[in-house]
Amino acid sequence: MRIVTVELGENSYEIYIGNDLHSELVEFCKKSSFSRLGLIITDTNVGPIYGGKLKDMLAEGGLEAEIYEIPAGESSKSLKQFEAIMTRCIELGLDRKSPIFALGGGVVGDLAGFAAASYMRGVPFVQVPTSLLAQVDSSVGGKVAVNHPLGKNLIGAFYQPKAVFMDLDWLRTLPKREIYTGLGEIIKYGIIYDRGFFKYLKENTNDILNLKDEETAYMIARSCEIKAAVVSEDEKESGLRAILNFGHTMAHAIEKNTGYTRYNHGEAVAIGMVCAAHISRAMGLVDEEAFAEVENLIRIMQLPVRAQGCDIDTLYEAIFHDKKTVNGQVKWVLMDGEIGKVRISKEVSEEDVKNAMKYC
Ligand code: NAD
Ligand code: ZN
Repeated sequence: MRIVTVELGENSYEIYIGNDLHSELVEFCKKSSFSRLGLIITDTNVGPIYGGKLKDMLAEGGLEAEIYEIPAGESSKSLKQFEAIMTRCIELGLDRKSPIFALGGGVVGDLAGFAAASYMRGVPFVQVPTSLLAQVDSSVGGKVAVNHPLGKNLIGAFYQPKAVFMDLDWLRTLPKREIYTGLGEIIKYGIIYDRGFFKYLKENTNDILNLKDEETAYMIARSCEIKAAVVSEDEKESGLRAILNFGHTMAHAIEKNTGYTRYNHGEAVAIGMVCAAHISRAMGLVDEEAFAEVENLIRIMQLPVRAQGCDIDTLYEAIFHDKKTVNGQVKWVLMDGEIGKVRISKEVSEEDVKNAMKYC
């Protein structure tokens, strides 16, 4: 069992990472001052496998929880689903101390978190992430949101959970492609923050791809520590938190250009990271060796390094419509000297960006 603390003053919370979190979950419920009734939000893939298990554990802790299942997939992160959840909360008579549990991937986490932040101006929220991406990224940091037909994650809030429980055994039912997706964000933490961690990933690729217990636990815990450290310093994204966006400027443009269907998020981030590394090399910020190390690790982790079917001018245009672009200025996160260090730059030439796009 590993525990990572996210330090946020009175909003601090613990992330529990292990192969059986039964006793921790029961204890947590017993010592919380929750109302007797709560809600588990999950999806149609995860609910049938783990919904009953979680419900039973909570019952042992004295909490009666209703299961609310949404259709699996990004389209459920909608205002329509949000409204349906609000209706269910009201029908059930949930009160200010009724907890909402998110059991699933990032879609469930973001939607359930936004519901928890909004119902009665905020009820206790607990994350039980079951995808690798949700465990290392979306369940940590307190960003919750739903999509609008005109754009992703446009309606949301910062809302921290009371605790996060990650059962590593539950990853065994996750499709392989979703494992690789999570690995994209994990590699990112090495590049932006920790050269030693990047080296660890490089030296343990086989065990990681096979989800060996020890390596998986370490990799997830270290990723959570890094995200927690960044978020603790900059909860509302006014400065440092922007480094988490490494590879994402291009990723968002690729996702948009390919209609959010060809590549999933982690795959688009993988291509975006190669692109950012390419720009960094072109600007003389890193040498050829560092660039090649990044590209090779991404490839070895079964992730794409080139985008197919994207027109460069359309892609370039899309960058300026990203939600993170303010006043037409793109904040590029670039490698800085060596793996493990990045800098933010607004001064990147169109030529360098387009050359990187040609390469990717
Ligand atoms: P997802 O929630 O759609 O999960 C991926 C797929 O795996 C789904 O089909 C799901 O049903 C299935 N699944 C999840 N756990 C499973 C398990 N243990 N066994 C079998 N199947 C399982 O997608 P995701 O990749 O987890 O998350 C993507 C979402 O996260 C996006 O909406 C993105 O915007 C959001 N996100 C949010 C943040 C944040 O900071 N809030 C950060 C990154 C991503
Ligand atoms: Zn991401």
